[in-house]
Amino acid sequence: MRELAPRDAEEVAAAVRDAGRDGLPVRMAGSGHSFTAAAVTDGVLLHPTRLTGVLGIAGNRVTVRAGTRLRELSRRLAEHGLALENLGDVDVQTVAGAVATGTHGTGARYGGLATQVTGLELVLADGSVRSDPDLVPAATVGLGAFGIVTAVTLRCVPAYALRAVESAERLEDLLERWPTLPDETDHVEFYWWPHTRDAQLKANTRVPLAELAPLPRWRALVEDELVANALFGAQCRLGRRVPALVPPTNRLATRLLGTRTYTDLAHRVFAHPRRVRFHESEWAVPRTAVPAILTELDATIRRRGWRVSFPVEVRVAAADDRWLSTAYGRDVAYVAAHRYVAEPHEDYLAAFADVVHAVAGTAARPHWGKLHRLAAADLAPRYPRFADAVALRRRLDPEGRFTNPYTRRVLG
Ligand SMILES: Cc1cc2nc3c(=O)[nH]c(=O)nc-3n(C[C@H](O)[C@H](O)[C@H](O)COP(=O)(O)OP(=O)(O)OC[C@H]3O[C@@H](n4cnc5c(N)ncnc54)[C@H](O)[C@@H]3O)c2cc1C
Repeated sequence: MRELAPRDAEEVAAAVRDAGRDGLPVRMAGSGHSFTAAAVTDGVLLHPTRLTGVLGIAGNRVTVRAGTRLRELSRRLAEHGLALENLGDVDVQTVAGAVATGTHGTGARYGGLATQVTGLELVLADGSVRSDPDLVPAATVGLGAFGIVTAVTLRCVPAYALRAVESAERLEDLLERWPTLPDETDHVEFYWWPHTRDAQLKANTRVPLAELAPLPRWRALVEDELVANALFGAQCRLGRRVPALVPPTNRLATRLLGTRTYTDLAHRVFAHPRRVRFHESEWAVPRTAVPAILTELDATIRRRGWRVSFPVEVRVAAADDRWLSTAYGRDVAYVAAHRYVAEPHEDYLAAFADVVHAVAGTAARPHWGKLHRLAAADLAPRYPRFADAVALRRRLDPEGRFTNPYTRRVLG
């Protein structure tokens, strides 16, 4: 395997041409936060470490090099009175890596990161550098299979704050409110702890910057680092050694996380450090499917006798027009199951997939960067533009320069 860290589109183009001459496949890695082997190659691996930085800001559009981390982008945008419209729950990913797999946050009226993309600079298989607008709908959530992305232009919004209200709730109450809950606040998500009826609701409202009222630094440190990471990590380790303790410690979790309200810059509310490692599967489903999926998953966990210390996360997003987006053409809910990294995850996540399929059938689409077992034949009927995306990819990359085992499995 050859590894390179190109600095710009020209160096990427040279690497792609050299790989073509030597008959090697090429992939670019992001920050390595996908759970699938999406970036893996035994040919030429391009690292994003030097392909970073803001190239320009014009009005509400920012153009960044592909390897720029979302956190760095948010910081730079804030200096210019701008922000990303929505973000996921961490911001350590690279812009290109996050966009390539359809990374999303939550918000019934807001799309994932890919919906904010208005332009892509791509190095194609023949080594040409292209920025055609008509490639954007297909190649944005493109899994690196259409070309190497060297720069991304994103639509931003004026900087804003989020008023965060986090509360301990009963799962039954949330499921009863579910038909209207996603529309009650701009950005709604909740976490349900298996073995309990407890959930933590996070409801974030977009407010002007004048309303900033951040948590005192010591309190943010205690709650986000000590409780949500150090203590939670200890709980997971304990649960692995003594599984019988998982239900009582899960019950403690919502009490410890408790209720809090604060208002901070949007990117500081959306994203938090997540230091306890895990395996994850996440499915996009019609919103109406959420209560049945949680009820069935709960029953499955009981039946199989598993002890699961990680919560199940529920989020929403608005329909979009990116061909391979999990929200293409319909509003969605996302349901994500996690398992502590040191515990076996395969059976649990496979059973979770079975539950999702039993409830949502082929309306369920897996997150491209998270664990799933579907192949192209399973995925094709779930995406109205799947055949178009595959045909475009074949036309742009007839020799399969940008393929790897994962893209061969999921795109054919
Ligand atoms: C702790 C944690 C929290 C997460 N939170 C969320 C969340 O809130 N919401 C969500 O939707 N997902 C979430 N994810 C998943 C994560 O956002 C995605 O897997 C994302 O792709 C990771 O970005 P990355 O920069 O690490 O890319 P990588 O995982 O390194 O790569 C992802 C894909 O992009 C391709 N790629 C990267 N750069 C380029 C480029 N320049 N050109 C072409 N292809 C490229 C790679 O080849 C690969 O196929 C989370 C993951 C973790 C581990």
